[in-house]
Amino acid sequence: MVANTHTRPTVLSQGTFLSVSADEFAEAAAIAGFDALNIWRHAPSFESASAVGMATRRAGLSVHAVCRGGYLVEPDQRAADDASLQALDDAAELGADHLVVVVGPVVHSARATLERAARVLEALLPEAEDRGVALALEPFHPMFAAEKSALVTLRAALSMVEALDSRWVGIAADSYHLWWDPDLAAQFAHADGRILAVHLSDWLVPTVNLPRGRGVPGEGVIDLAGFVAIARHAGFSGPLEVEVLTDRFDGQPAHSTARLLRSSIESILATGAAHTPALAG
Ligand code: ZN
Repeated sequence: MVANTHTRPTVLSQGTFLSVSADEFAEAAAIAGFDALNIWRHAPSFESASAVGMATRRAGLSVHAVCRGGYLVEPDQRAADDASLQALDDAAELGADHLVVVVGPVVHSARATLERAARVLEALLPEAEDRGVALALEPFHPMFAAEKSALVTLRAALSMVEALDSRWVGIAADSYHLWWDPDLAAQFAHADGRILAVHLSDWLVPTVNLPRGRGVPGEGVIDLAGFVAIARHAGFSGPLEVEVLTDRFDGQPAHSTARLLRSSIESILATGAAHTPALAG
């Protein structure tokens, strides 16, 4: 075992554990050696931030992030805004570093949707600052444009964040959403400390379930060590998060799934520092 793999904190996303209770999820993460959690407010088990907070503390862990409020742009904008504020309240109560925010699907045109999302995000910034919780804007894979996110490249996400110019907004960079982009390294090079989170999962061949058919790191085609290396090169110094959205482990013991996920990134943790970000050169 490489000694420094234990000094690099890791985060486990609840997205793999939607079929179990918050207590089971937190306990499984702790047993597997994760340090912190990304809590899903859309998990069927989510009752309240206080219940999740108790489960997290019982397991001896902390909450690193919360995912998510409403989409930034929705047909019922007031309900979406209320959901985002409630999510910020929950994230603050849980002591989270950031709340993941997602733009929502294209309405009329991608450009119009992104312009509206930028205004909504700007209005949320004082609320985020008040609560001491940053907003982590997550660009999605382009195949989600009609269903979940008009924001589909790191470049577009960075330009939105740069225009807002606040330490309370940054980017959640997810390997599953971004890996395909040949300009990725060049875009990361302009990120300038604005990457708040790195989410890791793999792209299976074939991928037949887009939202919940992700692969465990190492199972698919993504150069995840390279992805982490260019994120580190761009100034990201936070913990790596394993976010494998899939239902295939439902019915299996949560602690064995968590162990599998933790061991899937051991090699990335061990080699990440030494990996040469050749793509960024
Ligand atoms: Zn993600």
